[in-house]
Formats: sequence, structure tokens, C-alpha cells
Amino acid sequence: MSRREAEERIGIMQLKNIKEFTTQWKADLKAEISKLPKAPTFLIIQVGNNEASNRYVRNKIKDCEEVGIDAHCIKLEENVTTEDIQEILVKNYMADPNMCMMVQLPLPEHIDLNGVIAAIPMHGDVDGMIRNSIYSPCTPLGIMKYLEYCDFDLDGKNVVICGRSDIVGKPLARMMSDKNATVSLLHSHSKNHWKYYDIADLIVTAVGKPAFLNCYPIHVPVIDVGINFVDGKLVGDCINTENRDVTPVPGGVGLLTRCALLQNIVDAARWLR
Ligand code: NAP
Repeated sequence: MSRREAEERIGIMQLKNIKEFTTQWKADLKAEISKLPKAPTFLIIQVGNNEASNRYVRNKIKDCEEVGIDAHCIKLEENVTTEDIQEILVKNYMADPNMCMMVQLPLPEHIDLNGVIAAIPMHGDVDGMIRNSIYSPCTPLGIMKYLEYCDFDLDGKNVVICGRSDIVGKPLARMMSDKNATVSLLHSHSKNHWKYYDIADLIVTAVGKPAFLNCYPIHVPVIDVGINFVDGKLVGDCINTENRDVTPVPGGVGLLTRCALLQNIVDAARWLR
């Protein structure tokens, strides 16, 4: 059966262009921010000089500037203490109680992550670091918004999610289940993955292994969350993507995650008004 025939038969969705979607999402956020009495403020704490973290932080600041969020990063030396970071977070909160805050991961091993998270105010935790945060974690939120844009009605659909982390797989499974999808959450102990793929209407892979997803039905769209480096090249978890509906890496879920962070900052500003 061709992909088109399969799509017609089961009414499966087609993924839409992520770049176009995130461009529109950012334009909407910019318009919303322009109506606020004051630009939202956002602080990123970064420790050390991890190259990937440098890039993530640069992108976040650039995104914020693009939509009118007043963002800055405090970059600290590798030998900073947990107490130093807590003090900086508290000082910034005292100076601007409406400020949103996040700490860029990874942190050096000697830092107590839970201690740091405890110093982030609940309303400002836009990266969803606090347990039971009032904000949705950014990657699942971005994926859910994107599926809405693709007109993918989750009600009654079979979704397979590979990877059960607290920041992607588990919260995404809950959000999709809340939309009446039947979710199979696979992990490293799961067996016979193909059985789940065979009945899937959508596959999400968030495992972090290149070529993890290499054999799957041709008509099933795939959201590839994975970030892997192979010979210095950024790739996702999924291969054999020719003539298939798979979100690109780079330029896919990463863009959704970035926009979702902006969305959480705007929501915070709206609630605190
Ligand atoms: P993670 O904490 O790295 O955990 C990986 C998950 O994959 C675990 O649940 C693990 O199962 C599961 N797994 C490992 N081998 C498996 C196998 N053979 N079959 C099925 N499941 C398997 O997960 P994460 O933090 O969600 O990250 C996953 C990937 O997504 C990474 O590449 C990360 O860089 C990327 N990521 C991208 C974005 C983005 O914005 N693009 C955001 C977040 C994460 P167990 O629980 O049994 O160990």
C-alpha cells in the first residue's frame, strides 16, 4: 500500500512545515507582548563554558529579543557554589519579583540541582524545573501546539512514545492521554517495538540514540526529538526518512521547544499583570 493510500484509508495527518509554524507562533507572541504594559523579564543562569549550553543560551536570548522579552544571562565560573547561585536567584527576585528564571543544564557535579531549583520562584519557573511546576515542560508543550497546527486530532489515536524521561516522554504521554489518545510509552526494557509501531497513528522518538528508529510503517508520521552528534553532524533518532513524514533534525523539535519557552514567559507575564 502506498503512503497516500494508507493516509486515505485511515485519515492520518500530514506534518506541516515547522519553520513556518514557529515563525507564526513568534509573531503572535510578539503581538501579545506589545500589548503588555511592560516587557516581560527573563534571567538565565549558566555555569561554566559548555559549548552546547553556550549555543542554547545564545538562541534563547535571540528568541527573546525577537519577540520583545527583556532577557539576560549571568554566566558563572565552573567553581561557583550552590549557595552562590541561590543568592543570585534570590537577589534578582528581590529586584524584580515578576522576573522569570531558569538555570541552564547541565550544572557541574558539585552543584546541588534541587537546592538551586528550590531558589526559583514558582511563578517564574518557565522552564518547568520545579516538581509539579505550574508551567508545562517546553518540549511536550511545543509538540502539542504543533500537532494542533497540523490539525491532528489525538482523540482515539494510537501514539507510541519512545523514551520516558521526566522532561519529554512522561509529560507528553500525560498531555496526549488527556486529549484521549491511547499512548504506549516505550523504554529500554520494552520488547517487540514493531508490534506497537504496527498499530500506531503517530510515533514520537525521544531516546537519544542515532538510528534508533530505523524500521517503521511508511504511512506513520514521526516526531523526532532526539539530538545526537555523529561525526560532528547533528542528527535525530530516526533514519530512512526518505518519502516519509518525519520532523527534521536540526530545524524541528528544537524550534518548538524554543517557542514553548517564550509562550511560558508570556503566560507568566499575563498572569502577573
Ligand atoms: P533521557 O533522559 O536521555 O532518557 C532516554 C530515554 O530513552 C529513557 O527513558 C530510556 O529508557 C529510553 N531508551 C533508551 N534505550 C531505549 C530503547 N532501546 N528502546 C526504548 N527506549 C529506550 O531522555 P530525554 O532527556 O527525553 O532526551 C532524549 C533525547 O531527546 C536526547 O537526545 C535529548 O538530547 C533530546 N532532547 C531534545 C530536545 C529538543 O528540544 N529537541 C529536548 C529534550 C531532549 P529507560 O527509562 O528505561 O532508561
